[in-house]
Formats: sequence, C-alpha cells, structure tokens
Amino acid sequence: MTFKELNLHEDVLQGLDAMGFEKPTPIQEQSIPIVIDDHDLIGVAQTGTGKTAAFLLPILHKIASQKTEPGFINTLIISPTRELAVQIDQQLQGLAYFTGATSIPVYGGGDGDDFSQQKKALTEGADIIVGTPGKLMSHLNLGYAKIDKLQHLILDEADRMLDMGFYDDIMKIISQLPKERQTLLFSATMPPKIRKLAKDILVDPSEINIAISKPAEKVVQAAFLVYDAQKVELVKYLLRYNDIPSLVIFASTKLKVKELTRALQAEKLNAKQISSDLEQSDRESILNEFKSRKLTILVATDVISRGIDIDNIDMVVNYDVPNDAEDYIHRIGRTARASSEGEAITFINTDDQGRFQRIEQLIEKEIRKVPLPASIGEGPEYDPKKYRGGGGRKFGGKGNYKKRR
Ligand code: AMP
Repeated sequence: MTFKELNLHEDVLQGLDAMGFEKPTPIQEQSIPIVIDDHDLIGVAQTGTGKTAAFLLPILHKIASQKTEPGFINTLIISPTRELAVQIDQQLQGLAYFTGATSIPVYGGGDGDDFSQQKKALTEGADIIVGTPGKLMSHLNLGYAKIDKLQHLILDEADRMLDMGFYDDIMKIISQLPKERQTLLFSATMPPKIRKLAKDILVDPSEINIAISKPAEKVVQAAFLVYDAQKVELVKYLLRYNDIPSLVIFASTKLKVKELTRALQAEKLNAKQISSDLEQSDRESILNEFKSRKLTILVATDVISRGIDIDNIDMVVNYDVPNDAEDYIHRIGRTARASSEGEAITFINTDDQGRFQRIEQLIEKEIRKVPLPASIGEGPEYDPKKYRGGGGRKFGGKGNYKKRR
C-alpha cells in the first residue's frame, strides 16, 4: 500500500515526500480511509506506531480539499503535555507545508505575552489548534475562540489525559464545541473510563487496535532489586562497565532527577536533566542534543516518557518503577525502534515490588531479576505480596505559543 493509493491530496503527498515517509504504517493505512469518510474513530495505539500522522494526514487532506472558511477554527487537537503537543506540531509543520494550512500551538508555560498572542490567534481563527487541556480551557472560558464552525476534534493519549486529571476540562471544552463534528480518540490503552468517555463523545465510532506489546519484543528486559540508597551507585556502576552511547533514565520526581544528574555530572559523565521546571526552549534544545547524540545521558521525569519521539535509544533505565504498567511499555518502547535491539533496566525498591509484579502480569512475562554487583551490597528480597506498595503520582503539563502559516 502507498500513500497515493490512499487517495491523499497532492499537497499532502508532497509533504510526505519532503518528510521522507515512504509508505503508511498499519495504523495509517487503516485510519486514513475511515477519517476521510467522516467516521468517528477510536485508535488504540501507542507512540512509535505512526499514530500522529494517522490523524494529521486525513485531516490535512480534508483541509486541502475543502478550502476551509477563513477566520474559523477547523480542527482542535488536545494532547496531555506540552512535549507531546510540540511533537504533534513539529510533524504538522512538515506534513502541512504544501497545504498552506494554518495552525496555532496553545500550551502554557511561557510568559504573559504568549497568552495575548494565543488570544489574538484564537480570535482570528486558524485551521488547526494543538493544545493542552488547561491552557485551552483558560482561553475558551473567555469566549473569543472561533470554535463555532469546528469540524474535527482529536483527543490524543486520552488515557494519559484522564490519568492527569483532565476529565472535567475535556468535558467542558467539548460542551462548547458544535455537536455536528467528527471526533477521533487515540489512546494507548482502553480501560473502562476511556470506553465511557468514548461512548459519551463519539458517535458510532470505528475502532482500530494496534497491538500494544510489539515494541517490547526486541527489548532485553532486566531488573535489580535495590534499596533507594543504592540506586545512584548502581547507575554509576552500569555506566562504568558498559559502553552505552544513548541512555535515558526515568525517575519519579524532579528532585531525584536533579540529584542523579548532579551525581553523574560529578563523575564527568555526559548527562543532562529534563523536567517541567525547565523553560520550554531549554527542554527542546536538550532533547535536540540528545537526539543528535551530542548528549549521552538524558535524565528525565515521567513527563517526557510518553509521546516524545526519540529513536535509537540503546538503554532505558527506570530509576523508579513506573506508576502504570502501560507506562512501562511506553518507556521501554523508546528503545529498539526499527530493527535495533534495546535494553530496559528497572530498579525495584521494596515499595515498588507490588507494582512491578502487576507490570509483569500485564506483559505476561517474568522479568529477569539480576543480582546486584558485590560493590553495591545486598539488596532486598523479591516478595511482592509482602511489599504491596503502589501509590498514585500526578503529572503536570504546561506550554508555549507560536503562530505559523
Ligand atoms: P508517532 O507514533 O506518531 O509518535 O510516530 C513515531 C515516528 O514515526 C515519528 O518520528 C514519525 O515522524 C515517524 N513516522 C510516522 N509515520 C511514518 C511513516 N509512514 N514512515 C516513516 N516514518 C513515519
């Protein structure tokens, strides 16, 4: 199957050519005809499957074919974090280049000027808006956004948005949109709360399901049972005895990210941190350094674990066990893209043992527990029944503004 066979508009095909996308991924092959045919859609797929282009391409096709009315917003894309919104916006810039579609990113985190620029753009209208729920809500509450002729609503990473507590914001945003519209919902998982959301806001949707366990198959997974106090030393040990050109370490809190990064930098290791405390521009430049392999070690909070598209990571270290089993799959999916192999190592402290066992159950695989190196000392035993653990964590997302033709 080629993109041409999917009958995409010539301007969109040109964008694909410029982006170097040669043939559609399975989710694109399935979603494009459904969206072009105006059906609502549930897409169960995770990052790395090409899901972003799976909704951008048919929407751009429609915008390019129809000549939308100027001065109104045609498509609203809601994403959980600004990182993901930036990612969508970047793909959009490439794919939309020849269509002349206009778009506005609406996510917070910048200065006061951003808000007034976003306001101006929302008042004047644009073909596509990519935004985070909180920031979109603040604008919609003020009543100037030209959403009364909106035709497409896309919710990306819906499960993550609900986990982050955005349900009410999403429902409030939707209550202001025209009822006659096409709605697309993408989610990595389909827990009952997402089914309910889909039932409430979609009409007779088609459903596409791209198997979740795929990226994990090529990943070599292992775990260490550790006490918290042993974790920093264990990271240093792994780096001392392995040549890892590209490593991401995910930790649960900003403080841990900061402390670990400092400890690695003190060892003269090429490590930098990325967390929601950093300015948007700093985060992007660190991500770019990492993608271009100038930076070897990226230490990050959960915020970037989903949605961010970094290829060819050799190893992911879960400094803490991720909150959800799905997050584990997402994180280790950062490695072993394309045909390469990747490694994923998880540090399990006593509190996290119960949660880790639930991950093993979800992926239907028992992950090898590697004994700690002698220099690190004895770790705890593995007894998930004894150490149930598993409290929730909350995430935050803010953003920035940019307008473009
Ligand atoms: P996503 O799952 O949307 O995060 O996309 C993952 C990565 O695949 C991104 O870097 C996209 O630019 C890339 N991608 C998406 N569709 C294609 C395609 N058809 N051919 C090649 N690369 C693609």
